[in-house]
Amino acid sequence: MRRLESQGYSNLVARSRSELDLTDMARVRAFFESVRPEYVFLAAAKVGGILANSTYPADFIRDNLLIQQSVVDAAYATNVRKLLFLGSSCIYPRMATQPITEAALLTGPLEPTNEPYAVAKIAGITLCRSYNRQYGTRYVSVMPTNLYGEGDSFDPAGSHVLPALLRRFHEAKRDGARQVAVWGTGAPRREFLHVDDAADACIHLMRIWAEPGPDGQLTGGADAANEIVNIGYGGDVSIRDLAELIREIVGYSGELLFDASKPDGTPRKLLDSSRLRSTGWQPRVSLREGIERTYRWYVAHEKTARRAWTADPVARAAGGNVGASSGS
Ligand code: GDP
Repeated sequence: MRRLESQGYSNLVARSRSELDLTDMARVRAFFESVRPEYVFLAAAKVGGILANSTYPADFIRDNLLIQQSVVDAAYATNVRKLLFLGSSCIYPRMATQPITEAALLTGPLEPTNEPYAVAKIAGITLCRSYNRQYGTRYVSVMPTNLYGEGDSFDPAGSHVLPALLRRFHEAKRDGARQVAVWGTGAPRREFLHVDDAADACIHLMRIWAEPGPDGQLTGGADAANEIVNIGYGGDVSIRDLAELIREIVGYSGELLFDASKPDGTPRKLLDSSRLRSTGWQPRVSLREGIERTYRWYVAHEKTARRAWTADPVARAAGGNVGASSGS
């Protein structure tokens, strides 16, 4: 929303999870009929880190299937011009060749710790492609790498590694702790993209996708309807190096303790984003700058930072538990 506003878009419509339960098909349809959006960014999803995904697999597949089903159905029924669906890099096979190209989709077994989430997202991609094929719609699916930034969830049990470590190092420094635990062996490698860059890439793709480019050809090629597009930073780091960088930015001087009883997850997840780069887009926020910005935000919002993840069934019945960022 920030990025759209800064680019001069003013007629923006959003609903919080308490205002509109996206898992409720009838309500979502009624909302689309009354608001009649022209362009839809489907970023809402139930998301969480490695622990949340392996602890609540049923919630992760159920909620995500329902959200995307409701929104894509309503978008088609109300003639939305274009829809951009956010998937995730975890849809690719666990042992995909790195960097991972879009062609790796459905070529091998998935990482077990987040398979239910990944299967839901793969269904979402196939849903968009199938509507394109059958109805001639222009829905594009994008696969962001691990995202981070201001406004993220810093919940210790549910969050992803980057906010989890920022918080843990911050608290260790504050409390004078001698050691900080880092889950797993520290060996896995991940690619991180600042959320502002991801938003920028999504708006860029929404504008150019399936439109005639400067050469008169349809962006995305003749087969634009079937395409998915990776959104990555272009480089990865080991969890150990990430932890060292966060330690330095937070200014903590104690030791790192790797807790191998926690899962490592997939060994490496680096996207090949050349399809996106070929449309003239590139990221602007370096990992160091992005972490510094995120840390400043966290310190300013420590008391109020959102808890994106809770297994509270009451919250879900009320339409809760639906985050708005990329997942695993
Ligand atoms: P993933 O990309 O789906 O595996 O999601 P995560 O961001 O949750 O985890 C990435 C990697 O960071 C995994 O190897 C985790 O074991 C590791 N990691 C290290 N410390 C933490 C932590 O405190 N929280 C989380 N979520 N992951 C951690």
